[in-house]
Amino acid sequence: MAPNNLSDNSLNNLAKRISDVHRRICHAAMRVGRAPETVRLVAVTKHFPVSVVSEAVELGLRVFGESYVGEAASKRETILREDPSSSVSWHLIGHLQRNKVKKAVATFDCIHSIDSAALAEEVDAHAARAGKIQDILIQVKLSEEDTKTGIEEDRVFALAERITSSHKNLNLIGLMAMPPFFEDPELSRPFFRRLKDIRDDLAKSGIALAELSMGMSNDFETAVGEGATMVRVGSEIFGER
Ligand SMILES: *Cc1c(COP(=O)(O)O)cnc(C)c1O
Repeated sequence: MAPNNLSDNSLNNLAKRISDVHRRICHAAMRVGRAPETVRLVAVTKHFPVSVVSEAVELGLRVFGESYVGEAASKRETILREDPSSSVSWHLIGHLQRNKVKKAVATFDCIHSIDSAALAEEVDAHAARAGKIQDILIQVKLSEEDTKTGIEEDRVFALAERITSSHKNLNLIGLMAMPPFFEDPELSRPFFRRLKDIRDDLAKSGIALAELSMGMSNDFETAVGEGATMVRVGSEIFGER
């Protein structure tokens, strides 16, 4: 169960878990000759109460990933109220429903889950109305078995092209993927490599994207080894949901 109130003991625990994850990211980056600061930790707090987010902010985390718009909006409000000057940013990592776009634009600094032209258009329109440039990533579906969300590989270029050429209020910064779950993180490697290849192909076609959002608790080190610039880590920091 998610803790509602963290005792000193579990605060110490949380501090240790955070520093462990930072250290592992750092080592994984250095193993492949990357500067550790090129990898951002997106701490996934979905289903955890806002008290947990507060503790994490206190312990230095600044980027939080959430899967549900309503849940994130209310946490964001609470955190802002507690500390109006804290520079916390919120990333949407879950599927975005069309009827939640307005609230999502008002809530998130970055949306990882753009997977259709229609959704991009809707986000652009709401960002324009809000007077905002919305950072986004395209979520790519890398395998047949992963049927949940994401756009098919062969449609990524057309979507990226359309976003960069005609949506003035969208800032396309990268690609996101969620491979199927494997016990053995090595089995995720070909998927991460594939996402990086797609990014490199886009660059050759004139669309240079800096960010690769890939890797979760069980495989973030492998993802860093393959070029991840954002890793989305939940249970390894906060425990099981
Ligand atoms: C929940 C979630 C994560 C984090 O998963 P953990 O295994 O808890 O690290 C990362 N990405 C997405 C898209 C998620 O939904």
